[in-house]
Amino acid sequence: MENACSRCGRAGVVYVRRYSGERLCRACFLETFERRVYRTITRYDMLREDDTIAVALSGGKDSIALLKVLAKIERRFPRARLVAVTVDEGISGYREEALEYARRVCEELGVEQVLVSFSELYGLTMDEAVRDGYLDELGLGPCTVCGVMRRRAIELGAMKAGATVIATAHTLDDIVQTYLMNLLRGDLNHQPLGLRRESEGVLPRVSPFRLTPQREVILYAVYTGIPMQEVECPYGHLSQRALIRSFLTEFEERFPGSLYAALMAIEGRLISGLQEDRKVGEGGGRCGVCGSPTFREVCRSCELISQIAGIRASRLRRSAAIVGDLMAGARSA
Ligand SMILES: [Zn+2]
Ligand SMILES: [Zn+2]
Repeated sequence: MENACSRCGRAGVVYVRRYSGERLCRACFLETFERRVYRTITRYDMLREDDTIAVALSGGKDSIALLKVLAKIERRFPRARLVAVTVDEGISGYREEALEYARRVCEELGVEQVLVSFSELYGLTMDEAVRDGYLDELGLGPCTVCGVMRRRAIELGAMKAGATVIATAHTLDDIVQTYLMNLLRGDLNHQPLGLRRESEGVLPRVSPFRLTPQREVILYAVYTGIPMQEVECPYGHLSQRALIRSFLTEFEERFPGSLYAALMAIEGRLISGLQEDRKVGEGGGRCGVCGSPTFREVCRSCELISQIAGIRASRLRRSAAIVGDLMAGARSA
């Protein structure tokens, strides 16, 4: 009996859902996983029947799993369309493998893929940003800078594809990590993450895995043959997120269900807080550059991207001046 699936009664339990006590066979695990994603979408009203959904597809296991599940769900909605947006951040020795996985899964599922790159959009790869001291000049960690640039790149790719909504593979773990990071920065004045909010001129973003624990996404990837990259991002270990992740993962391991409880508690506060100061949001507050809701004149992303462009331009001017001097020197010699 120990090895019997608590749903179908067949032998061969592959996963024990500790927070619910369910013991699941492979087929029941996959089925309940996919059903939860579908229920998350309907519970939060994430997608419309005629959406063009841009899936942010990095080529990592999470994003491939999301594309696969959405491709299944989308078959039931003939007016919906799925496209994938893949960003090449320019991190050599790390991104090539996942970019290839991303290309292959799109081919396999017959999903159109839009490719954008940091070098084409910003004239700067992530490797160059690190190597050439941009991060020191900005006083920011690599993941912060990369995250802002990637987010903007995904938006641009999604607009290019005519998308009406962006779907990201953020899991329950990712979302609770972000709330905790914001809290530790003294900043919980945020909208709930990964829920559809319509705002003119801005593509809404949704996270259909927001109620799914990371370990279940990994298991889903294993059982559906999704390739898993072994190389880790060379810059990832420097992040605040890496610290918070290891703490939360251990905490959930010892006290199953903590992540979900935290999400519900935080969002309960956020949503009631939002209703209270709705007036603040309604009283204008849009970024003068991109139109995203913000309490500042220009949002933090636009500010950072223009700082990066500024550093780059001043460096180009400096190197042009050096070349000019050299040439003048050569002529006068
Ligand atoms: Zn079963
Ligand atoms: Zn902006």
